[in-house]
Amino acid sequence: MFCRDTIAFVQKALNLLQTVFGYTHFRGQQAAVIEQVLQGNDALVLMPTGGGKSLCYQIPAMLRPGVGIVVSPLIALMKDQVDALLQVGVRAAFLNSSLSGLEARDVEDQLLNGGLDLLYVAPERLMTERFLDTLERIPISLFAIDEAHCVSRWGHDFRPEYLQLSILAERFPQIPRIALTATADDITRKEISEKLSLQNARHFISSFDRPNIRYMVVNKQNARQQFLEFYQAEHEGDAGIVYCLSRKKVDDTAEWLKKRGVKALPYHAGLPAGTRQSNQEKFLREESVVMVATIAFGMGIDKPDVRFVAHLDLPKSIEGYYQETGRAGRDGLPSNAFMTYGLTDVVTHRRMLEESQANDMYKRVENQKLEKLIGFCESARCRRQVLLEYFGETAQACGNCDTCLSPVETYDGTVQAQKFLSTVVRTKERFGAGHLIDILLGKITPRVSELNHHTLSTFGIGQEMNEKQWRSVVRQLVGAGYLTTDDEGYGSLKLTAKSAPVLKGQEKLEFRQDTTVKTERKQRTVQTELQGLEAELFVALRTLRAEIAKEQSVPAYVIFHDSTLRQMSLDKPRSAKAFAKLSGVGQKKLESYGQAFIDVIMQYGPAQESTENPSKQRMPIVSDTVLVTWELLKEGLSPDQVATKRNLAKSTIYTHCAELVAAGELTVYEATGLPNNVIGRISDAYESLSIEEKGKLKPLFDKLNSEYDYGVLRCVLASL
Ligand code: ADP
Ligand code: ZN
Repeated sequence: MFCRDTIAFVQKALNLLQTVFGYTHFRGQQAAVIEQVLQGNDALVLMPTGGGKSLCYQIPAMLRPGVGIVVSPLIALMKDQVDALLQVGVRAAFLNSSLSGLEARDVEDQLLNGGLDLLYVAPERLMTERFLDTLERIPISLFAIDEAHCVSRWGHDFRPEYLQLSILAERFPQIPRIALTATADDITRKEISEKLSLQNARHFISSFDRPNIRYMVVNKQNARQQFLEFYQAEHEGDAGIVYCLSRKKVDDTAEWLKKRGVKALPYHAGLPAGTRQSNQEKFLREESVVMVATIAFGMGIDKPDVRFVAHLDLPKSIEGYYQETGRAGRDGLPSNAFMTYGLTDVVTHRRMLEESQANDMYKRVENQKLEKLIGFCESARCRRQVLLEYFGETAQACGNCDTCLSPVETYDGTVQAQKFLSTVVRTKERFGAGHLIDILLGKITPRVSELNHHTLSTFGIGQEMNEKQWRSVVRQLVGAGYLTTDDEGYGSLKLTAKSAPVLKGQEKLEFRQDTTVKTERKQRTVQTELQGLEAELFVALRTLRAEIAKEQSVPAYVIFHDSTLRQMSLDKPRSAKAFAKLSGVGQKKLESYGQAFIDVIMQYGPAQESTENPSKQRMPIVSDTVLVTWELLKEGLSPDQVATKRNLAKSTIYTHCAELVAAGELTVYEATGLPNNVIGRISDAYESLSIEEKGKLKPLFDKLNSEYDYGVLRCVLASL
């Protein structure tokens, strides 16, 4: 429903976004979600990590009367979230077991006196009768249920208390509820909807693509050495996470990295709670900490500047991999996902699964998930395409993953596949890759002679390739499902239903040629991207930020994000007015910190032209009315519909569109709906005009036989 109210809502929300949070425009579906909640309706929001879920409830909580209650399982993070809100001048507090009785009473007083816009609570606290009674006595703007996938028994973040949250629907039927999660799959979504009584909620599902993350998978040789080289080449001084499968490996790897000068800390469930807590704290608050961890670490880590996530062992599934890598680059700046992968990982996973207490169905499902992940690792296609397809999205090749950046060469490996598969058959599916390769290479090892395997017809028939190449063949056969490892996890290889056609010569197989040379282009990180004076200024600004953060005992990113400091170094604002234009600077931060940062900037000479293409790097400077148009377009209205809704002339709306096209925020196609060939025709016509004619629209309009509106022409020209 679009009415005058809608526009007023969008306008108010936008105003808060700019003055309080210091951002120029909403991202993705934020505006649509906010509108839904402002109208008093329920919402279920699926957005990837870093997509900007928090604003979806923070802004409506501020605009509706009463306090917004945010349920979150992440006690450790509530304080940081509240600190970040206090920094921008929002009245926020939290209630959980970390507070003393006195502190808790203080917060309750504020709650009763209408002194809060937002209150974060742990679910067990919310569900107490006493607390629910309190809530019935005060105005409430909304309930936000963060990390809503915690209601799912199937996921590993299951929290039984979350199941009780459906009480909210019964006791507070008039209050809008908004559930948020970064978990993408359908089953979880259905469970959330059922268990939280959100049957009437509108679903907002965003693309799960994380374009700023570059995916990279390399063959495992010496995982930690490979990681170290990657780290030294691209991430010296950056914060990141290194995942390992076992606690022991975490401890060893952290120790090993520390000896090599990396600021590495371990984190796993076997460490004393105090150590875990303090390591997590250091990761959040200090610069350049590399956390070496099991998957026990990470849920809800909302540190925005994690520059890389590395997996030294294979994760359990694509879901797991995506969630873990998703912790990189929440701030939208370039980040890396790096993985080393080998067949032994597959064997280990199989063994762990077999040794677990789980039932057969569960094991089967997990095995299938593992196979999908191997398929991803072995794929010669764009990594992002494979990932997004797994989540049911379609995508173009991304140009920002290892396979896109250095396309993999492939070869016809049918004969090699046949040789290997028949060796598996002849040895009765009882052996692992190493022994089978020995047979193919014709090596007389003690085991080979003991088992008489030198008499097999496949003995020595594989000498056209070396051991490493054979390993690659095996991995790819497993990855594509032509072979499978035994469930018991001994590592013996077995045929599958897909093997027979290959053996019979009915199917051809293409394999990727493993490259050993490192051809990845270097990812530009914040520091490496800035140069000379600007890099120096960035460091100086970061030092100031660290001092302020320390004084207030909050993480540095709560003061300003790296992205804001980076823009500060480039733009060098010297007045409050210029400073306020930076993304991430709202009124309160301008007042609190503007002068201190400007003082540092003043030491670095006069403002100079930024070295980057301003239209790409800066937020567009467009007026509010244009932004309102933009929000409506993003909700799916055509320019004509926007004109009707806003009661403005069509030509005005097209002028807005043209501004947005010029600012790089809309494509011509989005603005006009015209296919590429027509857009091409219009630009050709424009090119054919004389210089004087190019200055006006009429000649172009005439040249095209009055077929297109002036508005449409304006949009096309804006893109040229
Ligand atoms: P999520 O909870 O979905 O992982 P957050 O709400 O923590 O994501 O937002 C991720 C980052 O993006 C935060 O640092 C936030 O300040 C920033 N952000 C959110 N919305 C916007 C916006 N409209 N413009 C610019 N930055 C934004
Ligand atoms: Zn790609």
